[in-house]
Amino acid sequence: MSFFKRIAVLPFLLVLLSINVIAIPTAHAVEKSSGISVQSDFGSFFEGKRDSYVGAGWESCVTPATWSFDSSSLSGRESLREQKRIQWALDQWSKYTLVKFEFTGPMETFYSDTDFTLTPKNRNTSAPRHIYFDYVAGSESKLFTGLVYGFGLPSSVDPVQKTIQSGAIIIKQEFMDKYGKSSPKLVRSLYLHEIGHVLGLGHASNEANIMHPLVIGNVALGAGDINGVKSLSRACATESFTTD
Ligand SMILES: [Zn+2]
Repeated sequence: MSFFKRIAVLPFLLVLLSINVIAIPTAHAVEKSSGISVQSDFGSFFEGKRDSYVGAGWESCVTPATWSFDSSSLSGRESLREQKRIQWALDQWSKYTLVKFEFTGPMETFYSDTDFTLTPKNRNTSAPRHIYFDYVAGSESKLFTGLVYGFGLPSSVDPVQKTIQSGAIIIKQEFMDKYGKSSPKLVRSLYLHEIGHVLGLGHASNEANIMHPLVIGNVALGAGDINGVKSLSRACATESFTTD
């Protein structure tokens, strides 16, 4: 199993990484579960990487969180298809967190192969409570080795509230070219998994959970995924209301 960790700390910006391997079902043996029950099989993304952030998650505010993707490497048809799949994947998690994600349109981003973040090309600052998606050629990221076809990470965290403020999800372009049309379940499964990381989840050990590091085409969240994300998301503390 390929598992990569990296920590780079910037002011109020945390960059960590968790990549995962896509296993084409017939080509890979799936790892045996470790004996932990499926429903308790979850952990924080930050465990063993940045312990003070263990438990960090997203806030469920009345104002939805947002997402955008850089679809400049996709055709118009592919772009619409992936937009629907990403929204579907976000909605699966939203059922259990009440954190809603609203599409704000395509946005070109710059991928940094130094800190593995995505930043909008047209401005300097990242939007709050936002997830950026991008499709990056294998040659543009040193992380795309072997069967690694995607990675996702929380890219900024409020260290006081322990709320995740933004995330980045990078999908290998060649993966999309090869499987985008032929293997919809694999693509959906990859989105579900990487979104799980952005929501604050680490890897699970049982293949019944989406957060298992081998992506095998599951398109349903497991009991551990659900319990995990419920434990991480919290009520909105940043939204202000006017009162009489
Ligand atoms: Zn992963």
